[in-house]
Amino acid sequence: MSVPQQKYDIAIIGAGACGMTAAITAARRGASVCLIEGGARVGTKILKTGNGKCNLSHAPIEGDEYRGSDSKRVAGFLNRFGVDETLEFFKSIGLITREKDGYIYPYSEMASSVLDVLRFAVAASGAEVICSAKATAISGSDGDYAVLCKIDPDGNGNSKSAKSEIHAKKVILCTGGCADPVSGSDGSGIRIAENLGLNVLKPLPALVKVKAANSKDMAVCAGVRSKGVVSVYVGNGASDIASGANPVSYDRGEIQFTKDGLSGIPVFNVSRYISRALDEGDSVRIRLDLCPEMNEDELAFFITDHIRNGYGNAGISIDEALSGIQNKKLNTYILKTIGVKPSAPAADIGRDEISRYAHALKALDFNIENTYGFEQAQVTSGGVDLNEVDDNLQAVRYPGMYLAGELLDVDGPCGGYNLQWAWTSGYIAGNSAASDL
Ligand SMILES: Cc1cc2nc3c(=O)[nH]c(=O)nc-3n(C[C@H](O)[C@H](O)[C@H](O)COP(=O)(O)OP(=O)(O)OC[C@H]3O[C@@H](n4cnc5c(N)ncnc54)[C@H](O)[C@@H]3O)c2cc1C
Repeated sequence: MSVPQQKYDIAIIGAGACGMTAAITAARRGASVCLIEGGARVGTKILKTGNGKCNLSHAPIEGDEYRGSDSKRVAGFLNRFGVDETLEFFKSIGLITREKDGYIYPYSEMASSVLDVLRFAVAASGAEVICSAKATAISGSDGDYAVLCKIDPDGNGNSKSAKSEIHAKKVILCTGGCADPVSGSDGSGIRIAENLGLNVLKPLPALVKVKAANSKDMAVCAGVRSKGVVSVYVGNGASDIASGANPVSYDRGEIQFTKDGLSGIPVFNVSRYISRALDEGDSVRIRLDLCPEMNEDELAFFITDHIRNGYGNAGISIDEALSGIQNKKLNTYILKTIGVKPSAPAADIGRDEISRYAHALKALDFNIENTYGFEQAQVTSGGVDLNEVDDNLQAVRYPGMYLAGELLDVDGPCGGYNLQWAWTSGYIAGNSAASDL
């Protein structure tokens, strides 16, 4: 594969959600654009999003849902190109959408529709796409940037790679973070930025499952799903909780119990705090409230009453008597953690044991040992400090260089927020670079 020697107006590094949006936007403004992609194909991660359906945005998005080094600035970017503008953009390239409970999907509910329309729009815009070209460094300055690339001649990694330089007046670096590295976002773009002297907040996995300490007892409830509240406590663990400390984060929704820890959307949404706290050497504890609609006393009263006047004398076991309250497997786990044999006759269970069960249902604690790694993570917490870019996403220290997408230290919760950041920042970077030629 040969790389054209012409000099482009704009070289965009990384053909993910962000890079393709930037390319279409800049080329539509008349710029000659070269879109450089390390993988053999563009936009592969998009196909995996939203379980193959691509939850491409959310309605509404205010901006304060995002986290990172200067996340309060995100609202300002969204004011310039937010959810409405994104949906218009997609309409302009032939994609209609549908919304359910705020979650926005392509009308086809197929992520491939999103990738297809982006690919076709990139081609129609006249932007040149160079795949199997991994950027390793950027040199030069405004008006003449050079992107050093390692070219994989066959696109399959089997042949000896060649080096090449692509020249452009402006450059947009949008190589993603480190999450899901098989899709190409392996952190190499963040290293390019770091080598240029830009400040980088350590990339850590976010929107990811967590591992509990002493998880061997959890095998019994692996696969169980239960709705509840997930709260994260950082620091001295139990003593912090006991002294009434506020959690550093919490979320409500369907919790999934795994063989070695916890998963599900509310766990994903708090996981960025867990990654960062553990990385700083803090201890982390998750507390689950598996019955947020009732308080502990109400629960204990209900159970006592039920055992006394209900099935208590029917010769059933305590885990059977509690089956109207929680999943049986989860009850088995909870009863074991409070030292009650699940097979014990319900009639023999005293007030103290019932109080302990009610307390555990409202405050089931897990010491968190770790999160899963980038291979399992949906996004990256950390990346290039947002303070390194101005309101046009231009690098403060490198005029003519723009940074966008997950590469920047901005991360959102589940629900379309992260792709929205990719569209928003891709549009702003592409538009700003093209208008500055
Ligand atoms: C399984 C999964 C499901 C997800 N589901 C959703 C969802 O439903 N909704 C949502 O909002 N978000 C979702 N996300 C997150 C979302 O996909 C990302 O935040 C978003 O794709 C980031 O876009 P980006 O363009 O910045 O980076 P990426 O999509 O990571 O794209 C970066 C591109 O740059 C290329 N690249 C990397 N390094 C180089 C280099 N050195 N040279 C050249 N090219 C390079 C990569 O190959 C890649 O194509 C999901 C993520 C995963 C992993």
